[in-house]
Amino acid sequence: MAHDHQDLLNGLLTDLWIGGAALPASDGGRFDVSDPATGEVVASVANGTVDDARSAVEAAAAAAGAWAGTAPRARAEILRRAFELMTSRSELLAHLISLENGKALPDARGEVAYAAEFFRWYSEEAVRITGSVSTAPSGANRIVVLHQPVGICVLVTPWNFPAAMATRKIGPALAAGCTVILKPASDTPLTALAMAQILAEAGVPAGVVNVLPARRSGAVVSAMLEDPRVRKLSFTGSTEVGRLLLKEAADHVVNSSMELGGNAPFLVFADADLDAALDGAMIAKMRNAGEACTAANRFYVEAGVADEFGRRLAGRMAALAVGPGCDDGVQVGPLVNLEAVEKVDSLVRAALDRGATALLGGARADRAGYYYDPTVLIGVAADSPILDEEIFGPVAPIVTFADEDEAVRMANASEYGLVAYIYTQDLARGLRLSERLESGMIGLNRGLVSDPAAPFGGVKQSGIGREGGHEGVLDYTESKYVAVQW
Ligand code: NAD
Repeated sequence: MAHDHQDLLNGLLTDLWIGGAALPASDGGRFDVSDPATGEVVASVANGTVDDARSAVEAAAAAAGAWAGTAPRARAEILRRAFELMTSRSELLAHLISLENGKALPDARGEVAYAAEFFRWYSEEAVRITGSVSTAPSGANRIVVLHQPVGICVLVTPWNFPAAMATRKIGPALAAGCTVILKPASDTPLTALAMAQILAEAGVPAGVVNVLPARRSGAVVSAMLEDPRVRKLSFTGSTEVGRLLLKEAADHVVNSSMELGGNAPFLVFADADLDAALDGAMIAKMRNAGEACTAANRFYVEAGVADEFGRRLAGRMAALAVGPGCDDGVQVGPLVNLEAVEKVDSLVRAALDRGATALLGGARADRAGYYYDPTVLIGVAADSPILDEEIFGPVAPIVTFADEDEAVRMANASEYGLVAYIYTQDLARGLRLSERLESGMIGLNRGLVSDPAAPFGGVKQSGIGREGGHEGVLDYTESKYVAVQW
């Protein structure tokens, strides 16, 4: 189904969503949202102010008591309806994501399905938040543990998964009985506002979910963290901004969850099923054109199979159709903005300057819009910045290793620890490496790990806390201990 921009934007919220009402910014300000495929402005959105941030906290506080007191089954059914509404509008939402983020429609459709699943999963979790009763070791009393909603939550999300990063936070927060203020990335506020509309239609009461698009993210988020009623900050974005926000949260001792950057190693052993490794590599590298925190950032391939792997990966990547994300048949869309293209380009140049060879691509795409050609680099020197920084683009640097110990040493030589991928047919080796690799998640003979039913998150500077699974809902609760004598 083709969607014209105007069709897509008709009836879509472009104001702030506070207390169940669409409101302009307090100073009347707005900012532009553009289509990365062309650079053209497609919409303008209200630019939330510090005063608006305070109003949003006020609205979340006014709704908090009633929402925490709403029966878990009622909260569950609202989330379930939100899942159904998202699913029934998946085509429209996919086009909207593609319009403001640039990703190709197959990726956008995948994101909508993944994002909606968080509402379904947490509708199921809402009625399963159990506490515990035990006898104190002394036998003197009972220990009762309750899981209560943590309170008002500030949710800050990135542009690369505008729907899924929002639902991965809103789903568990609502299931746990919390009210929230979502501050979406300013490149992609339209999808977040569409989520607010869907949640309202599903029956979320006014003030339970507030959405505050804002260009002045620092000031707006600080204003919310300064309010003592805000008890939780859940952030997904870069490690750099995460560090800043953790410092601010420390001033108010606010409970914080951080889903930060990644630098995923992708290990291919000589005993791997090479066809499966290539399939996995294509997903881990090329989903979202590489703009994923879980994207394979560094390929470490055992010496005996490195040439074949590189050659075949280059062949697979060369066959992808690059173009505007919304066009039929396109598999790789543009990157989100010019800055992203320039960053990828400078990382590739630095690798080439240090002696790498491009088996494919190696330069900016020769077309209007923010494109980078799919690229495969071999012989990448160890001191190349491309092995240390998130590429966030369709570039695969390949390094060879001699044995398991060398592979582990290189894979762990990073400040990040979000996800690592391992391809080997020796399951004992795979499990041994799963223990040795410093990362929160492992894809063992799989190029995709994200699943609403599993705990997603990183170690080291990739983050604190887990989203998804049962852990995800516990992140929005506080354990309360009652010592009882009966
Ligand atoms: P970013 O850190 O620039 O921005 C993330 C969000 O923080 C946006 O909403 C932005 O407006 C806001 N922000 C920016 N500066 C702020 C400040 N000073 N105070 C308060 N808020 C501020 O990240 P991005 O470029 O939008 O997203 C890409 C990054 O997100 C990558 O590093 C990627 O790895 C990471 N990411 C991580 C995960 C994960 O689950 N670990 C998932 C997706 C993306």
